[in-house]
Amino acid sequence: MTESRVINFGAGPSALPVPVLEEAAQGLLNFNGTGIGIAEISHRSKEFSAYIASVEAQIRTQLAVPPTHSILFLQGGGTAQFSAVVLNMMARHRLLNPEMDDDERVMDYVLTGSWSKAAVHEAGRLAGGAKVNIAVDARTLSADGKSFDRIPPHDAYRFSKDPALIYYCENETVSGTQFSSDPTHPASFPFERLPGDKLLPLVADYSSSFMSRPIPRLADHAIVYAGAQKNLGPAGLTIAIVRQDCIVDVDAAARLGAVPVPTGLAYKSFAEQKNMPNTPPVFAVYVTGLVLKRNAELGGVQYYEELNRRKQEKVYGVLKEGEAKGLLKGHVQPGSGSSMNVVFNVIGEGAEARFLAGAEERGMKGLKGHRSVGGIRVSLYNAVTEEQVDTLVAYIREFLNQTPA
Ligand code: PLP
Repeated sequence: MTESRVINFGAGPSALPVPVLEEAAQGLLNFNGTGIGIAEISHRSKEFSAYIASVEAQIRTQLAVPPTHSILFLQGGGTAQFSAVVLNMMARHRLLNPEMDDDERVMDYVLTGSWSKAAVHEAGRLAGGAKVNIAVDARTLSADGKSFDRIPPHDAYRFSKDPALIYYCENETVSGTQFSSDPTHPASFPFERLPGDKLLPLVADYSSSFMSRPIPRLADHAIVYAGAQKNLGPAGLTIAIVRQDCIVDVDAAARLGAVPVPTGLAYKSFAEQKNMPNTPPVFAVYVTGLVLKRNAELGGVQYYEELNRRKQEKVYGVLKEGEAKGLLKGHVQPGSGSSMNVVFNVIGEGAEARFLAGAEERGMKGLKGHRSVGGIRVSLYNAVTEEQVDTLVAYIREFLNQTPA
């Protein structure tokens, strides 16, 4: 069965480690010796309750989540979080500033790609009279004024004085830009420029980089969230790391005039009911737990940081060779490139189709770029091995050698 598998460079849902899939197949028949499959067992059973608690503990250990933050298991993907972060953080702002007029309230958004753009759109829908301030729009810095091709320099950000939230997307999956995890790098997040000296309302979408490396300044974040389906497990589970002062009484806020928060989006419901105000996505939680157990054996996020850095260097290296020959063109400015999604064009009439067909012939799939950007996108999530990257790099080199410059 596993021999028929191809190399999957897809952007998500994406590849999972084969040993995990094999164990999960067993778990579908018999979960942890219960005689009941994971998709059949009660989420209230003592076996599953213990399991979900252990998954939470693994995340806490592997990401060094501080005791000030809770780990929530939610549903609805990143898309539901575009709404949830607005509703919960606006409720918090209302409780902290009950007298403030609605049109004085503001949410700051850092706009670096199509996922932060989608979040901005949702914020506009749910703002309830508050203003959505674009702290920086990366497109304005690009040569054509409309490309998301870089992380802005620190001096480009304009934050508000007392925003209800400050939002950024750490890795833009579509255009392939990512904040650097090195705080001294120009493409790092400008933590030093954030307003105020109190608890920061900083919200980060880590959907496509969660667990690929440590999260810089995690303790300074109000919320970090991610869907499981890139680096952890099947779609259906969304993980949020939420600082406890952001888990607020949304009903009390609504009585003061805030937008009411549906129970399924209120962090409080999940925090108070051990992540089970309703049926959690049991299978996705199960596989995520298996991946985390494997990660721990391999050396956790530090292991993946190192592995992903090597994978990234190899792909950007061959991309540079292709650029020197005038046959490839990276989508992203140097220094802003993602370690998870490398986006580029193959230059020449019909060249992209030829490139993709050749890759497919060699058993490599999922390389077609997102329809809004086009070109090629190589996704290098945790489960993609270094050997698989070597196969791709060898193919790209072969392609470059066979194509007249
Ligand atoms: N944010 C980022 C960075 C993403 O890559 C995606 C999906 O790929 C989303 C949000 C949306 O996530 P979902 O499809 O889980 O709603």
